[in-house]
Amino acid sequence: MNFAHNRAFDVPDDDAAFERVAQFVMPDGESRVWNNAIMELGGVACGKTPQCDEAGCPWRRWCHAYETGDFTAPDVPTQPSFEGSRRQFRGRVIRVLGEYDELSLDELGPRVRVDYGGDTGEDWLRGLLSDLEGDELVSVAETQNGVVARLRE
Ligand code: SF4
Repeated sequence: MNFAHNRAFDVPDDDAAFERVAQFVMPDGESRVWNNAIMELGGVACGKTPQCDEAGCPWRRWCHAYETGDFTAPDVPTQPSFEGSRRQFRGRVIRVLGEYDELSLDELGPRVRVDYGGDTGEDWLRGLLSDLEGDELVSVAETQNGVVARLRE
């Protein structure tokens, strides 16, 4: 098991639990491809200190660690020091948008943080969305109803 397994799927450090998850997510007859992909993910992006954004990890949209900000793993029991809340909120934006076709900023903001407003209001959210657009994860458009955001196809 490598860090990517634990972080990406929220698998506890337990062989039986890992086996169950692997059975569930591994495509039938593709175990070799799957294992290679996980090894690659671990080598390129999800090492001891994960490089989620820096390496453009393709799993960010679905990753449990990216959403929650908890990047601990069995061999990395303490939170890596680089972790900042910005990444955590990026993950939340992605997760919330995954539940809707699109959302206006007024609809999205309060779903991303309960204290939406003030210094962490619309300008803050636009900044996050701009980063996510740059990473080609989200698209933002002006519509008759104002600015709306959605996940990129
Ligand atoms: S998003 Fe980050 S934590 Fe999740 S699998 Fe990718 S590199 Fe690892």
